[in-house]
Amino acid sequence: MTLTDYHTHLRPDDPDASPKEFFTERNLVRYVERAAERDIGELGFAEHVYRFQESLTVWRHPLWLENAVDRLDDYVEFILQMREAGYPVKLGLELDFVPGRESELRSIVEERPFDYVIGSVHFIADRAVDHEDYDAWRLAEPDQVWREYFSTLASAAASGLFDVLAHPDLVKVWGAGRPAPDSKLRTFYELAIDAIAAADLAIEVSTAGLRKPVAELYPSRELLSMCVEVGKPISLSSDAHEPDQIGYGYDQALETLREVGVDQIAVFDRRKRREEELG
Ligand SMILES: [Zn+2]
Ligand SMILES: [Zn+2]
Repeated sequence: MTLTDYHTHLRPDDPDASPKEFFTERNLVRYVERAAERDIGELGFAEHVYRFQESLTVWRHPLWLENAVDRLDDYVEFILQMREAGYPVKLGLELDFVPGRESELRSIVEERPFDYVIGSVHFIADRAVDHEDYDAWRLAEPDQVWREYFSTLASAAASGLFDVLAHPDLVKVWGAGRPAPDSKLRTFYELAIDAIAAADLAIEVSTAGLRKPVAELYPSRELLSMCVEVGKPISLSSDAHEPDQIGYGYDQALETLREVGVDQIAVFDRRKRREEELG
């Protein structure tokens, strides 16, 4: 029986949160201990690519320019050292999909010993679906935001860059805080489901949505069912940005997974996926 928490961050999103303060044995141990307390046998870190200087070879968005301070290899080296010291942790990366920059994205991950790469879509063009400073809704109608989000998600799935597709309906993050689209949500999911079906990747069930205004799991039950119907393996994570969030909301996630018939969970080593019994 296996539980995973692969999509976690060692530090908060604050641009001032430095590796010196957070990429330390003392901080990592807090995550390891919390995972053990919650029976999570597979713990991994997936720092945001845009915190690292190397991301600027991919994209020079203002948010990235503000955040791209650290060196990716220092992070990689830190996790490998912790592993050598005996901590059972996996090395991952949360890599934003940037359309048209596939080869730059590929060279960031290919040269490094990641256990898994989590692909996420936070932006449609240069507007964010989940960041108020670059708000996508200010320039477009809700239906257009949802359409572009799921079209971009389809391209991310089809890119072959990723082992896991993160928080698949992140576009709903604000809940009632943004206008809802007129069309049925399924019409947007359908923009991505064929690409998801054809892609060799796992779909992330993320409890982060429970902590956001929408107060729901990512993805919605309907989208999750569609992914399960087309045979996608499932990855389970909290998107923790602090130790207390490790395994957050897993009771609810496990109940939902059981209800849609999922009893296996995806596990990764050096970008090879296998499935283990979920529990
Ligand atoms: Zn994300
Ligand atoms: Zn994340």
